[in-house]
Order: sequence, then C-alpha cells, then structure tokens
Amino acid sequence: KKKIAVMTSGGDSPGMTAVVRAVVRTAIHMGCDAYCVYEGYEGLVQGGDFIRQMEWHDVRGWLSEGGTLIGTARCMAFFERAGRLTAAKNMILNGIHALIICGGDGSLTGADKFRSEWPSLVDELVANGELTKDQVAPFTHLNIVGLVGSIDNDLSGTDATIGCYSALARICEMVDYIEATASSHSRAFVIEVMGRHCGWLALMAGVATGADFIFIPERPQDQDWKADMSTVVRRHRKMGKRKTIVIVAEGARDRDGTKITPTEIKDLLADKSEGGLALDTRITTLGHVQRGGTAVAYDRMLGTLQGVEAVKAVLEATPETETCFIAINENKIVRKPLMKAVQESKALAKAVDDKDFDMAMQLRDTEFAD
Ligand code: ADP
Repeated sequence: KKKIAVMTSGGDSPGMTAVVRAVVRTAIHMGCDAYCVYEGYEGLVQGGDFIRQMEWHDVRGWLSEGGTLIGTARCMAFFERAGRLTAAKNMILNGIHALIICGGDGSLTGADKFRSEWPSLVDELVANGELTKDQVAPFTHLNIVGLVGSIDNDLSGTDATIGCYSALARICEMVDYIEATASSHSRAFVIEVMGRHCGWLALMAGVATGADFIFIPERPQDQDWKADMSTVVRRHRKMGKRKTIVIVAEGARDRDGTKITPTEIKDLLADKSEGGLALDTRITTLGHVQRGGTAVAYDRMLGTLQGVEAVKAVLEATPETETCFIAINENKIVRKPLMKAVQESKALAKAVDDKDFDMAMQLRDTEFAD
C-alpha cells in the first residue's frame, strides 16, 4: 500500500484545512494510507507523534475551518542539510512514499530542495549506519507535489492561491464597516492591509470597495504623489464627498524604493497648516483578522479540487516526471512545473493590466460626474 503524507507549511491561509481533508480522503479512496505531518517541516524533522496516520472520519467537519488544523510552523532546521537528513530518515521510518505540501513559495522551495537532494540524503543515511540498504530500497526517489496556500495571491502561474479570496472578502467587509463611520463623521481612513511584496489584496480590495487611493509595492508612487493626492481629495471634498479611504499594502513604496507608511499618509491628510487638508484622519491596521476566520466558498472549492488533483498527480508520477504544483488557470485545475513558478514569482509581480486598473480607479469620481 502506498503511503501519502500531507502537510501545511509557512503562513497559514483559509482553505488549507480543506486541502488536508481532500488529500486524506482521496488517498484513502484510491487505496492508499493517508498521513498528516503536523507543524510543517518541524514535524518532519521531529518525527514521532508529529507524523500520524489519518482515517476518513479524522477530517470530518474540516472543510470550512479557517487556518490549518494540523498546524504550521517556520522551521530553521529544515534550511540546513542536517535537518533535511533527519526529515528523510523519519519519512523512511514511517514508510512514506510521497509528500503533498501546501504552503507559500518558501515552503515549496524547501520541498524542491528536499526532493533534489533525496538520493544523496538516502546514501548518507546508509553510509553512516542510521538505516540499512534494505530499509531504503523502496525509497530511491521522493515524490512531491505542491499546493499554493497563501493569502497574498503571490505565486506566478496560478490565477488564485488557496486563501486569497477569503482574505480579500474579510478586508472588504472591514472596509465597509469603516466606510459607514467615515461618512458619518466626514473622516479619512488610512487602512493598512497585508502584502509585503505583492499588492494583489490591496489592489483588489481597492477596486471592490471603491477606495480613493491604493498604494502597492508593484506600482511605486511618483515623487509628487502627495501633491496629486491633495488635489484629488480637495476636489472630492468640494464636491461633497464625506469620506476618504486609502488602502496601503505593507510593502508600499515610492520610485526611490522608500517605504510609504500609513503615518506619512495620515500626516498629509490631517495637515492643519495653511493649505493643508486638515481632515480628521485615522489609521486602521487590519492585521491578522485578514488571515483568520472560515474559508469562503471559493477557497473551500479550490482546496478540495486541488487536493484531489494532488493525490492523482502523486500516484501518476514517475522518477522522470517534473515536480509539479497544482494551479488553477481559467477555471481549470492543472499541473504546472513547480520551480519555474517560484522563480517567476520572485522576478515579477502578478500582472494586473494597468489600463483596467486606471479605469476602475476613475470610478471613484463618477458619482459626482454630470
Ligand atoms: P511560506 O511557505 O509561507 O513562503 P516561509 O518562507 O517561512 O513561508 O517558509 C516556510 C518554511 O519552509 C521555512 O520555515 C523552512 O522550514 C522551509 N523553507 C523555506 N525556504 C527554504 C529553503 N530555501 N530551503 C529549505 N527550506 C526552506
């Protein structure tokens, strides 16, 4: 019987638990034994109780849960060869043939490194007497498949990562709450959302809530952004608009690469000196509410369909098959080369057509148009 393990790693995201449920049940359905590795790579390095066989009923009720019920962690030991050597030993001792990893680009990079090193790790375990030749014989290569769990939608090659639509829904809900109070008091709000390298959440939340301004890492502001912002806000207020909403991604910056902070934007909007906007301005940092909570329907669906596909991919893989991750492209669940996507993600921000974006931003003015 094939033994397939699933783990969640790196930052948690809603829908990861749906992945675990889908992998466990698909594996069992396909006649395999299903395992969970608890606490990400930490569990693989620790072994013992961190690696547990799962039955059908163990994942009952997991579909809609937020976060990950098998835990996740950042594991320093796995960055080192020694940690990966112990991880390999634990996998072999548990008889695990294949590993499905749901995590961000860091976790998937770690997975690929583990896979490429695998034969040499196995040789070393035999050479230093930790395992016998017979023990390692069925484990000549490591079969891995990646699933992208990330609220940031920051992986190239897939339309959506598992969790991004839940986080987006949460942000929009929070901005709606804030808007009501902003209008009541004619206030301005600067809302900081997650996204150190990727502004997808800020951008989409801005479009979906009709925010006045959006600051994202991929679109650095011109040096004179402060003057532009003042002009637009002044015009809006003259026309009778009672609220100003600015959404800032954590990684927002200007063309020099200097970080643009919510405080800086607040100071501009609240400036009481002559010619200043003098708006009653508040900063709201949404923080971890963006990550938590249950998964929206889309993420449950994505986690489930991709979990099923991951098990199929694992069962069909041969030592010659290129390592893949499961993507969604134009509503189709597909397998794609893993490392190409990771490398491209580092090089290029997920494309959003600038023209579409500009038009959407113009809509903030239409309620005042003739
Ligand atoms: P994410 O998967 O959300 O991007 P991290 O970048 O923190 O999160 O990665 C999660 C874990 O994956 C790390 O704590 C580490 O154990 C493992 N990992 C990440 N990058 C590597 C790497 N280059 N080599 C080995 N392991 C890695």
